[in-house]
Amino acid sequence: MVNAVVDKLDSLVKEVNSKISQISELKAVEDLQHEILGKKGELTQILRGLSELPEAERPLVGKKANEIKVEIQKLLDKKILQLKRSSLSERLEKEWLDLTLPGEPVPSGRLHPLTRVLREVKTVFSGLGFEFVQGPEVETDYYNFEALNIPPDHPAREMWDSLYLGERTLLRTHTSPVQIRVMEKRKPPLRVISGGKCYRRDAVDSTHCFQFHQVEGFMVDKGVSMAHLKGTLSAFAQGIFGSERKVKLVPSYFPFTEPSVEVYIDCFNCALTPSESCRICGGSKWLEILGAGMIHPFVLRVVNIPSEFTGFAFGLGIERIAMLKFGIDDIRLFYESDQKFLEQF
Ligand SMILES: [Zn+2]
Repeated sequence: MVNAVVDKLDSLVKEVNSKISQISELKAVEDLQHEILGKKGELTQILRGLSELPEAERPLVGKKANEIKVEIQKLLDKKILQLKRSSLSERLEKEWLDLTLPGEPVPSGRLHPLTRVLREVKTVFSGLGFEFVQGPEVETDYYNFEALNIPPDHPAREMWDSLYLGERTLLRTHTSPVQIRVMEKRKPPLRVISGGKCYRRDAVDSTHCFQFHQVEGFMVDKGVSMAHLKGTLSAFAQGIFGSERKVKLVPSYFPFTEPSVEVYIDCFNCALTPSESCRICGGSKWLEILGAGMIHPFVLRVVNIPSEFTGFAFGLGIERIAMLKFGIDDIRLFYESDQKFLEQF
């Protein structure tokens, strides 16, 4: 009886050994483990049968059975490890990477030329002590026109064919309303620039667009004169177009400044290679870059700034500056999202 059980145990080891040698998949090892050591497995059955043995022989056979169980488990574990190792080396063989191959190029983004110019303008003015303030794009008639000395029947309103949203609200036609908003709330001394989108009811062509970007700046303090205006704008022109630029002021008209001027710089292209047919200035040697002037006393009164204060203000088109700076001859290029155009910046 005892010998029969021991023989059974020994032949079980042989059986496991021979089955394992034919296995090539992990799943099959798991199945075999279940078949031998599981709840209804062969070894489990043999162990259950031990209770039928004479009591004196049970410990010896029990010991043998446990040794066999450990031995079988070792065989199974060894096979599992072996299969895992070979599947790993198989994967490494199949899935190798050549790390010396060059990678896929990732296209890098660039700043839009208008963003670039706007940032440069901000940098120049912040160096001169100007603070950047933003205002709303949807404005009231009051801030956009009236407070800036442009009453409803004023002929200057012709200059700003506007996009109205309602009876008294419109998309701002310039950034000058920010001047009023700042001066209403704060007292001089003030040195402020503002910038952003503006809108006019313009037909789109190579120099006009219904949407464009302006930067507005002003300074209010005791004793501010045209000399301060010219000095500030010279520093701006030199900061953007080169340190040797000269500035020329030509009398002009704006309702909210008195006197008003158009500001010109000498042509930077002609300065390098003088030409009668210069593609930037067309041979005139001067480029108009912005409009400016001393803030009209009416505007200062509207915002209750005491009469001992004076100020200057200026407004410039970012598109205009970018077109001059980069030699671009069509404003529409800024808004067409043409990769070939944008990649040049
Ligand atoms: Zn020129």
